[in-house]
Amino acid sequence: MNEKTLVILKPDALRRKLVGEILSRFERLGLDLLAVKMITFTEELCREHYAHLAGEEFFPKIVEYMTSGPSLVLVLSGPRAVAFVRRMVGATDPLEADPGTIRGDLAVSSRKNLIHASSSLEEAVTEIARFFGDGLGRRTELHCDNRCCQPGEGSLLSTCP
Ligand code: ADP
Repeated sequence: MNEKTLVILKPDALRRKLVGEILSRFERLGLDLLAVKMITFTEELCREHYAHLAGEEFFPKIVEYMTSGPSLVLVLSGPRAVAFVRRMVGATDPLEADPGTIRGDLAVSSRKNLIHASSSLEEAVTEIARFFGDGLGRRTELHCDNRCCQPGEGSLLSTCP
């Protein structure tokens, strides 16, 4: 069964021009991109999204990092997408992230580690509502202009010629 998961390409991913590199990894795996939004985190949003870390001494550094520039927020979909994406992202500290993972290959700092991904289905539901509370858009809006895909089909642009 397809799952949806929320991914954030953090400000260092955009600054380092790694958006294409990271998105191509998800595309190569076959995940569908359902929604994309560029936002700049506020301190308030950091407090909500990283509430579990609000008591840590490094929390002000997270706020400084996440508010330092725009982030790209995505919803990806596919079979067991939550676990697959987490595995592709790798451990929080890039030193512990396996080679071949996004953090293992592209990051060196445990704070500036490029990417966030939902850690469970429940978290994905909460996070998708947090960032796309206004909905993911009508499916027809996500299809390409030549209308080769019909609304309600299983995949989006991936089925277009
Ligand atoms: P993950 O992003 O791997 O799910 P957490 O939810 O524990 O990990 O942490 C959220 C984010 O907070 C991390 O991705 C990282 O940017 C930052 N962070 C976590 N732990 C540390 C730490 N010990 N020092 C600095 N930044 C940290």
